Amino acid sequence: MASLEEIIRKHVLKNAHDYGLAIPAKVVGKVIGECPEAKADMKGTMKLISEEAKRVNSLSKQEVEKELSQFTFEEKKEEKKEIELPGAEQGKVVTRFPPEPSGYLHIGHAKAAWLDYASAKRYGGKLLLRFDDTNPEKEKQEYVDAIKKDLLWLGIDWHDETYTSDRMDELYRFCEEMLIKHAAYVCTCPPEKIKKGREEKVACDCAARDAQESMALFRKMRDGKMEEGEAVVRFHGNMKSENTVMRDPTLFRIIKAPHYRQGSKYSCWPSYDFAAPIMDSLDGVTHAMRTKEYELRNELYFGILKALELRAPKLIEFSRLSIKNAPLSKRLITPLIEQGKVEGWDDPRLPTISALRRRGILPEAIKEFVLSFGISKVESEPGWQKLYHENRKLLDSKAQRRYFVRNPVKLVVEGAPAKEVEIRNHPSNMELGQRRIQAQREFYISGDDAEALQAGELFRLKELYNATLLGKRQDALVAKYEAEEGIAAKKIQWVPYGKQISCKVKIPKDLVDEQGKFIENSMLVDSGFCEPSCAQLPQGSIVQFERYGYARLDEKGEGGLVFIFSC
Ligand code: ATP
Ligand code: MG
Repeated sequence: MASLEEIIRKHVLKNAHDYGLAIPAKVVGKVIGECPEAKADMKGTMKLISEEAKRVNSLSKQEVEKELSQFTFEEKKEEKKEIELPGAEQGKVVTRFPPEPSGYLHIGHAKAAWLDYASAKRYGGKLLLRFDDTNPEKEKQEYVDAIKKDLLWLGIDWHDETYTSDRMDELYRFCEEMLIKHAAYVCTCPPEKIKKGREEKVACDCAARDAQESMALFRKMRDGKMEEGEAVVRFHGNMKSENTVMRDPTLFRIIKAPHYRQGSKYSCWPSYDFAAPIMDSLDGVTHAMRTKEYELRNELYFGILKALELRAPKLIEFSRLSIKNAPLSKRLITPLIEQGKVEGWDDPRLPTISALRRRGILPEAIKEFVLSFGISKVESEPGWQKLYHENRKLLDSKAQRRYFVRNPVKLVVEGAPAKEVEIRNHPSNMELGQRRIQAQREFYISGDDAEALQAGELFRLKELYNATLLGKRQDALVAKYEAEEGIAAKKIQWVPYGKQISCKVKIPKDLVDEQGKFIENSMLVDSGFCEPSCAQLPQGSIVQFERYGYARLDEKGEGGLVFIFSC
């Protein structure tokens, strides 16, 4: 086992290497973590660390690197659940995440993206990010940007970024190939007739149209000479098939709306069914994963590739994530935004990645949560608790502690001395430092604590002193100062009177009920005061309000601080 001196040397060098200068307070937690006995003599340990930091800070960068190279650091733990892909070869796996830029990512997308990314990593392969953007009516650059930002925040990066809409000319050529081979045809029936034919399992006359005529019509469609709904390209499937997907599905349709990336260059757009297999094949995807509800479309996926004599990737299905009482689909989220029922895509009540970030849910917690389901087709409907549990586990060691008193009530402690206390920001993580609070004899405590205290009861103002409650006056509780030390069963948090900071904590609750109906007033708000040091917290900080919960500082406004309850 390494000596304490060696452990200190290693962490001081690492700190100097990573940050350019070793700071003893940043190193001490790591040293104690590896050598818990060093805690017994903190003063001595700190002295050794400071001396070593002084020595290391006088070394050149090269010298630090040289010394550091003698040490090894524990690698991050590997994924618990190993992903297994059929027929996967090390170094040759290519997966893709194919979002449509028609909204922001939600936690269901995070599941898909993490499975794609973790699978590629597992085999030393590549993940491609492909924007499946062939529906101009719904797509925006804003969504492309948000999707990339959210993926990076989640910890996912990609080998290459592509856009299906950049490949339109190729897709047109493949369509023509299908028409020539009579694997597809142009159908000029009205949409209602097409629908009826599918229901009744009967083909329309267009199915018999010869290739030349289909080609001529397709060119008209492509060149903007036909109107929306006048014609579509359909796959020659089987109108009698029990699989409804195979009843001559649409491959191309006319959409005249301008496209966010291609402008008005195209007005004839491929369906997902046509573009997805071709793009997967051309991009060299070896394992294409998608959610289980696409299973019926597999026959079509392979049918198109076969007609075009293109290489077929392996298709793998996994279950779609759904969470109890959460609208986990863009189809459900978009109307809430459009109708102004929520603030926007990052409204903390939504299951979007931007909302979870705003609430103080860490990306590592999301990763653990979504990967815990693995590539499995088993359906389940977890609640949020499992994600919150992961998040608390991660935050526990790194979130600073603070006092927040909800529905505050004034407390006067008679006979108490003025006192300045230094309170640790974390019970065991010394790296998080401490804060000073000046206490006179007047405080705010939470309404709940005030309510629960009985006259004659001994309690302790946390980190300060003990007091006995004398009684409750109309405007305040009155207590008598007892001793600095000693045991009092009840410890309560406090905020010094006159130095309090106004504080609101927004608490997001379920947006929809079991029937999917919108719940009004799903954002609760707790109001109160927090301690003065909270004013120095940067926006975005996540703290633990003791005996209350974790919260992320969302806004520092004129009226005080606004936090969002995390978990
Ligand atoms: P939404 O219903 O939110 O519009 P979508 O499937 O239409 O979802 P896309 O942008 O097309 O949204 O999805 C990109 C990828 O994310 C697809 O591979 C899709 O299967 C996957 N995905 C979407 N929602 C979920 C979910 N709830 N659970 C797991 N994967 C999902
Ligand atoms: Mg989709």
